[in-house]
Formats: sequence, C-alpha cells, structure tokens
Amino acid sequence: MFEVKKFGGEGKRLKDYEGIIGTEVIQRIKEKAEALSGKSFANVNSTAYGGGVAEILHNLIPLMRDIGIEARWLVIEGTDEFFNVTKSFHNALQGNKELKLTEGMKKLYIETNKVNADDFDLGNFDYVLIHDPQPAPLIEFYNKEQPWIWRCHIDLSDPNREFWDFLRRFVEKYDRYIFHMEDYVQSDLDENKVVIMPPSIDPLSEKNRELSESEILRILERFDVDPDKPIITQVSRFDPWKGIFDVIDVYRKVKEKVPETQLLLVGVMAHDDPEGWVYFEKTLRKIGEDYDVKVLTNLIGVHAKEVNAFQRASDVVLQMSTREGFGLTVTEAMWKEKPVIGRAVGGIRLQIVDKETGFLIKDVNEAAEKVVYLLKHPDIAKKLGKNGHERVKENFLITKHLERYLDLLLSFKK
Ligand code: UDP
Repeated sequence: MFEVKKFGGEGKRLKDYEGIIGTEVIQRIKEKAEALSGKSFANVNSTAYGGGVAEILHNLIPLMRDIGIEARWLVIEGTDEFFNVTKSFHNALQGNKELKLTEGMKKLYIETNKVNADDFDLGNFDYVLIHDPQPAPLIEFYNKEQPWIWRCHIDLSDPNREFWDFLRRFVEKYDRYIFHMEDYVQSDLDENKVVIMPPSIDPLSEKNRELSESEILRILERFDVDPDKPIITQVSRFDPWKGIFDVIDVYRKVKEKVPETQLLLVGVMAHDDPEGWVYFEKTLRKIGEDYDVKVLTNLIGVHAKEVNAFQRASDVVLQMSTREGFGLTVTEAMWKEKPVIGRAVGGIRLQIVDKETGFLIKDVNEAAEKVVYLLKHPDIAKKLGKNGHERVKENFLITKHLERYLDLLLSFKK
C-alpha cells in the first residue's frame, strides 16, 4: 500500500466555492466540520489515477484538509494478475453472469489484501473508508476499533450472485455501506447500515473550470479537431461496459445526415484496468481509417484540461454505457451546459432528466436520431444544456458531497 501525497486539487479552499454555492452553505459546512476537527480519515482504493474514484479523491481530500480533517489517501498494490481478478469482480458485479469465481481467484484476492494490510496500519485512523471491491477484504486483517465504511462505486443493479455472495462476507463486517442510488442496495444487507450518497464533480478543478475561447481553440488545433464542424463526444475509459462501439455506430448514422460531423473518443488508460488495452485496440480496428473520428488519450497528452476543452467544444455529448455506476463524465458535460444523450441505465438515469437536460435512449438508432435533432436545433440543445447545469449545481457538486460525508462521520458520534 502506498500513500498519495500529491493531489490534482492541491491548495483547495472551501471559501473558493463561495461564488458558486453562497455564504450560507459555506458557513453550514464549516460548523459541521468543527466537531470533526483534527480527526483522521483514511480513504483506500486501488488506483491513484484514472476513473471516477481517483478523480473524486484528488479533489475531495484537499478540501477535507482545508476544513480541518486529517484526510489521507492510500492505494493498495498488487500484481497484474490481482488486477485481472478484481476486474473480473467488477465485471461480474456489474452483471456478467458467465464469469466463475475459482478458488485460485479467491486466494489471490485475499492474500494480496493481507500483504497490503501488513505494510500499513489503518488501525491508527479515527475513520476508515474503503472504496470498491478491490480492497474490501482489508477489514479482515485489523482488530478494528473505529468505524469502517465500505463505498461501492459500481452498478450493482443485477450482480452475478456467486461473486456478490463471496464479497458480502467482507462487506457485512463494515459499519456502513454507501451506494450511489437505491437501485444498487442489495436486499441481503443490513438496511440500517445503508447510506445513499451520489458522487460529485469539482467545478474548480482543471477538468471543470471555465476555459477561455482561445484556450479551447488552441487545444482543438493541437489535436487536429475542426472547431467549425459539428462535434460529438464520449469521454470514457476503454471498457466494454462503456458502449464505445455503439458510440461509433451512432456517429456513422449521424454522419449519413450531417456529413461533416466529427467524433471525439476521449479515453484514459487506468492502471488497475488491464482489459483496457485489449478493448482500446479493438476500438481502433472498428474505427478503421475514418480520420473524422479522433481517438484522444492520455498516451498522446490528453489530460484534465484537454478533456475539459473537448467537452466544452462539443455540440452533443454521448454516454452509451450499458452499465454505469454513476458516470461522472455525464455530470461534467452537464455542468458545461452540454445536452447529454445517454442510455437509460444506472447513474445515467439518475442524472439526465429526459427531454429536460438531454435524452435517455434505449439504442443506437434512437441516439442517432436525437443527435441529429440537436445538431439541427441548437437553440434546444442550449436550453437542455442550461437545465443540466442547474441540475448539477443542485445535486452533484463537490461541496454537497463534502457535506454528506460530514453528516455521515458525525452520525457515528454518540
Ligand atoms: N476521464 C478522463 N480522461 C479520459 C476518460 C475519463 O479524465 O480519457 C475521467 C472523466 O472525466 C471522469 C472519470 O475519468 O472524471 C470517469 O468517471 P466515470 O464515473 O464517468 O466512470 P468510471 O471510469 O469511474 O467508470
């Protein structure tokens, strides 16, 4: 296990958000934080970079520190084989029923957690929060004396029972379990320990802050994207659940009606996701030689600011995932006043309000039809985008998230 000491959101201060959320809310958060001042709070996950959990921690940890909580971030380590096993967990829990859990997988999963527990003492913290299945068994290896919370970031609406039954053995030992939404709560868990808490985005992060027109144009130029032609975009890891092949099919249908359309496939390669490389190559093969499809990855210098610029430059943003724990990419696009067209699954359903902030669709044909409609009706696209921004502001900003965590920690106090 190693500790993350450098954060994307370094130097963050709660008062920087005053202009967005108002003085009253800031004051309320500060009051709640006072009772937790000096308390140590460990967050443990399995990657320091790539994917939604890392994105949130980079921003939330510095903010917690600013309000006096000694928040720290630990990352478990393991071999590629371990991460292959945990990716199977991820896939099985999101609904892949074909996968089988072998004794060898269980052994590697538990042993890797034991090694991680041996080299770091989580017992010294006042609160411990474990993210996702990868580090869930850590709880087995401590004589815990403080509250332990398990947070699930994946779409658990229809899990492979074999994997869930095995994982539940560990999860049950926690004092609270956090799910993004009610649909993911498993009925065989103690309902008194369940907490519903959606994730959030940080409006001041490099990923989401305002960019000037010239900054955006410079980035588009660098990656050979034409700002004068329609742009549709999906940002996602190269993961089969993200529906990237469907995105390409949607684009091809749109192109029949609006031939100058460009597609931006923005994708990051995460350290804990070995499957990503295989899917990346398949994606390239499917695209073939169509150079109006831009594949924009961290491998060629696409980082937070570039993602921000691509989202801002888009006319329509897609999220064709077939399963989606939450989908921060949807939140990010809505915050940037973009109409988002997404498949009606998981966290996408929680965020997009159909016909108000974008469209919830069932398949490629419907998505293509909506994209064409929005490209031809920019005034409506603009209105949906504005509504989306308001929805994020009300529900899914980091300051709301921070307050929800404070409420949770305070709930342990006698
Ligand atoms: N992301 C990124 N670059 C990429 C792809 C994704 O920075 O090329 C970020 C994205 O902006 C979002 C996070 O990774 O903040 C993905 O979170 P989400 O909840 O959408 O999905 P997850 O990857 O956790 O399944």
